[in-house]
Amino acid sequence: PWNFSAGPSVLPESVLRQAAAEMLDWHGSGMSVMEMSHRGKEFGQICSEAEADLRQLLNVPDDYAVLFMQGGAIAANALVPMNLLGRSDAADYVLSGSWSVKSEKEARRYGDIRVAASSGTVLESDGQQWQPWTWVPDAASWQVRPDAAYVHLCSNETIGGVEFSDWPDLAALGASDAVLTVDASSNILSRPMDVSRAGVIFAGAQKNAGPAGVTLVIVRRDLLGHAQAACPSAFDFANVAKEGSCFNTPPTYSIYIAGLVFKWLKEQGGLAEIEKRNIAKSALLYDYLAQTGFYRNPVHPNFRSRMNVPFTLHDAALDAEFLSGATARGLLQLKGHKSVGGMRASIYNAMPIEGVQALVDYMKEFERTHG
Ligand code: PLP
Repeated sequence: PWNFSAGPSVLPESVLRQAAAEMLDWHGSGMSVMEMSHRGKEFGQICSEAEADLRQLLNVPDDYAVLFMQGGAIAANALVPMNLLGRSDAADYVLSGSWSVKSEKEARRYGDIRVAASSGTVLESDGQQWQPWTWVPDAASWQVRPDAAYVHLCSNETIGGVEFSDWPDLAALGASDAVLTVDASSNILSRPMDVSRAGVIFAGAQKNAGPAGVTLVIVRRDLLGHAQAACPSAFDFANVAKEGSCFNTPPTYSIYIAGLVFKWLKEQGGLAEIEKRNIAKSALLYDYLAQTGFYRNPVHPNFRSRMNVPFTLHDAALDAEFLSGATARGLLQLKGHKSVGGMRASIYNAMPIEGVQALVDYMKEFERTHG
């Protein structure tokens, strides 16, 4: 079967097989990873290798800390303002879909929050109209306040299927004191990213990086140590960084599996190679969508996600039959998010091109028999 879940999502089969083989006895230690002290030398090795591999994959500069935390990306929506709004309490948000809207709403509890730009309106471009949340506001139009501590964006809107191809240089926008904060939950590790463009990058692991339970946080070290007084000590990035992600008990098993995923990514040739595959996979699906009137993707071509491809059938009355036929063929979890309806194919790193081809073949056949 091919699993198109938006998250938690498919993981590389070899990773799961290795985890199964090591389940009862990790490397002759006589212990499952689940049974190890987070302060012992065995878990210490697992955690430090995971950090080193993640640093290598994303080319993380030395002046950034890499943290393995709990709470997921929704908790990080609160932790970012709590950690960064200790000095200035102003932050600006770029809205491009459901997840960035959620981030902005959560942040309002912790500071003076404004919207720097939003794609929540109709865009007229090249004689065509693009509906709200199907495009990304151009950085030149962002209204960033001079005293903003940070500007937030979501690099890939998992529900809308809208992706930033690049992150702007804030200094070039005249906001040299602000840092960029990025929710990269659904496209981290899918392509090379310029970490030095951001002050904080966070991601729930359960799409491209591992199982649910661990949140990756990459934070520039000079931003540590200014958390708001109310920030819980276990969520103060400075404490977590100082203790090598072991200020409290970290999600040890999830970190272990994420570490295996990082090693798998290195074996595949790293992020440059993974990006090539993700370009080829998403092009296969988008090229087919472009030449049929039976299905439709609503997103502006410049901002189509390589990870999450939403599409609708020309007749929504066929949705249920499309989905049950897909499941019968082993094409799993294609139902779109309830807020947008239709279908969504999430094609993260662990989905090979053969899975995307199987989906396109099914879509063509369904079109032939129902068109
Ligand atoms: N941000 C993005 C872009 C997501 O896709 C998701 C989950 O799907 C979240 C945040 C929420 O993550 P979590 O459920 O780990 O809190």
